[in-house]
Formats: sequence, structure tokens, C-alpha cells
Amino acid sequence: MPAWDQKLTELKQQHAYRQRRLMQAPQSVMVTLDDNTYLNFSSNDYLGLANHADVRGAAKQAIDDYGCGSGASQLINGYFQIHAECEQRLAEFLQVEQVVLFGSGYLANAGVLSAFSKRHGLILADKLNHASLLDAAAGTQAQLQRYQHGDHQHAQRMLEEHHREANLIVTDGVFSMDGDIAPLPQLSALRANYNSMLIVDDAHGIGVLGATGRGSLETLAMATDDVDILVGTFGKAFGSGGAFVAGQHALIDYLIQTARALIYTTAPAPALAAAACQSLQIITQQPERRARLHTNIDYFKHAIKSTGLSCLSSDSAIQGIILGSNEKALQFSQALEQRGILAVAVRPPTVPKNTARIRITLSSEHEFQQIDQLITALQDINHSYADHNDTK
Ligand SMILES: *Cc1c(COP(=O)(O)O)cnc(C)c1O
Repeated sequence: MPAWDQKLTELKQQHAYRQRRLMQAPQSVMVTLDDNTYLNFSSNDYLGLANHADVRGAAKQAIDDYGCGSGASQLINGYFQIHAECEQRLAEFLQVEQVVLFGSGYLANAGVLSAFSKRHGLILADKLNHASLLDAAAGTQAQLQRYQHGDHQHAQRMLEEHHREANLIVTDGVFSMDGDIAPLPQLSALRANYNSMLIVDDAHGIGVLGATGRGSLETLAMATDDVDILVGTFGKAFGSGGAFVAGQHALIDYLIQTARALIYTTAPAPALAAAACQSLQIITQQPERRARLHTNIDYFKHAIKSTGLSCLSSDSAIQGIILGSNEKALQFSQALEQRGILAVAVRPPTVPKNTARIRITLSSEHEFQQIDQLITALQDINHSYADHNDTK
């Protein structure tokens, strides 16, 4: 049996085989999936923009103005006015010199780490960084070392041991599975003291955190240039697709000259850039969306306390309910689904061993009553789970 076939069999035996499910209506608080309707706590559409009329309108207009596909790499002739405009608006929003678009966050991270790492150099990364950063580091000729999650002192000890130049310190802003925020001020100090570059992927922070939506940096009262490179994506709060990298002119210029994940790939579809640009306008002009999201986050955090379930400490839209074993997380997820609620079980290797969890994502568009529905369901499921295991 070939290795891949063996692997498929193993996955099925270990209940780790995964199937894509069919979405039959746009992303929203209520979704239709495989012919059933669910209350949705699983999407990253934090501000309800993926199906916003103005965002759809901007994408349609861009198709009429620029066509569907960009037709070429940015460096050949696939870079359109709408891309430039989107980059310019983002630069102003983030208060940064320059922004460049990438096809996705996965590609942006590959591009950034390949461009700025050095052969035999050191990449220091938080242990819970997003998989795309891990893969990006693996694609370089630098050595990857991972410090304990959120532990800047551990990172510092690693830097001291190495005495190396051209170190990259790489972290998520908001961590995608735990929802907590990296110790960015401390990491920024390390960057200065150890002649290192600090690269922050704030895919879950930008648009969501900070008074104006500038993300983790704004929440921590930091300027964008307290870090060297800021990565953001359009697939989450922006409700579109694609990604961007922000930094000083020279750094972004270097990226455009050298990042293979930008050079050897077709420029993002103009419609996606147009949608992102429109979303940015909503993000800046409708702070009430962000306020509603944070009201919902507070409401959820308060309510979950009454259930006796243990929730990770997070002020972001990502809330993890730790259940421990894979089986328990799966049972909870399935029981929620039977009650018409979509909240996925996240299991190792996506999260550390024995921390299988239900990952809840909140949106500005959830009503309190819908959050109540989730809490009540969790309470019920927890009680019947406990009863069941008592009588065993
Ligand atoms: C989602 C995500 C990415 C990947 O972005 P895509 O545009 O979906 O490829 C990268 N980093 C983090 C932290 C993410 O959460």
C-alpha cells in the first residue's frame, strides 16, 4: 500500500479524517451547511463584512472596471490601480510608510520570512504561532527555534545564547487558537537590544482591536514602527481575501524585489482588493461595529463563567473552551451541532496535547439572545456529559 493510502486509512481509524462541508449561503451569523441551518460561531468574519452589500458592490464594480483575473504577476503587468489604491489607504490607516499586497496570508508569511531570514541565521518564533509562519520558517535556510508561548524572557535567553545577527523574532499579534495577544512591547524591546527584526502577523487583530481598528499594536498603545514588519489578512475582519505587508519603504521595496511568494504568483484579483478597500472604509467609518463586537465578547465572557467550563483568557473575538481530550471536544462539538450551533472542535496537532477545545469566534452581528443560546447549550451538554461519566 502506498504511504499516502496508508495515511488515509490511519486518519479514518483515528477519527482524524476531515471532510469539507458545503456552504449553501453566504457567510453570516446563520449559515446553511450540508442542507442544515446553524447559528454560526465558527467563522472569522468578525465584523459581518463578507456579505456586506457595499463590499459586494465594490467587488462587482471592480470586475466591470478591471475584469476578473489580474492576468499576471505584480511585477509583470498584473498590478492595477485598485491594488495601488488599496495599498495607499492601508498605509494611511496603519500609519506606516508603505504597504504591499499578497495573494494570501500564507503567501505573505512565506514571502516575508524568505526575504528577511539569513542562511544559518536564527528565527525565533512563539510556540503557538500560526502554521503559516511555521511553514514559512521551514522554507528558509535559517534555523528555527521556538520559545514558550508568550514568554519573552525565554526568547531573550535564546538570543543571548546565540549572539547572532540578523535574527528574526516572529509572532502572531492575536494568537489564532488561544485568542490572547503577544507581549509586543517586550518583544519590541528585544528587537532593539539584540539587533533583530520583529515580524508580527496580526491576522486576527487588525480591524478588530484598538479604538480605530489598527489591531494589537493599537491596543497595546504601540506605533506601527515599533515593529519592523506587520502582516495582515483580508480573509478575516475584512471579509475578502488576500493579505498585506506593512513597513518602511526600504523594507517593502526589498520585499517586492525578492519575495518569491509575490514575484512568482499572479497578482490578487482586482475584485478582492476592491472589496478589501471598501471594508477598510467601513472599518474606519463604522467604529460601532467594533464596539458591538466587544460588547458581545464581554457578554460571552461574563456568561461563560456561570457554566463552570474553563475558558482561555482572551479579549479578542477568539474564545477557547478547553475540554482536554479529543473525544470530549468532539462530543461537545457534535452535541452543539445537534442543537443547531456551529462551533468547531480544535484538536492536536493544531493545539498542544490535552488542550482539545471548542473554539468560539464572535461577530459584531451576533445578538445577545444568540449568545445565550450557545451558553445554555454548553451548560446542558456539560451537565449531561458529567452525569454520563459519573454513572460509568
Ligand atoms: C488565517 C491566518 C493566516 C493565513 O491567512 P490567509 O490569507 O487565510 O492565507 C496567517 N496568519 C494567521 C495568524 C492567520 O490566522
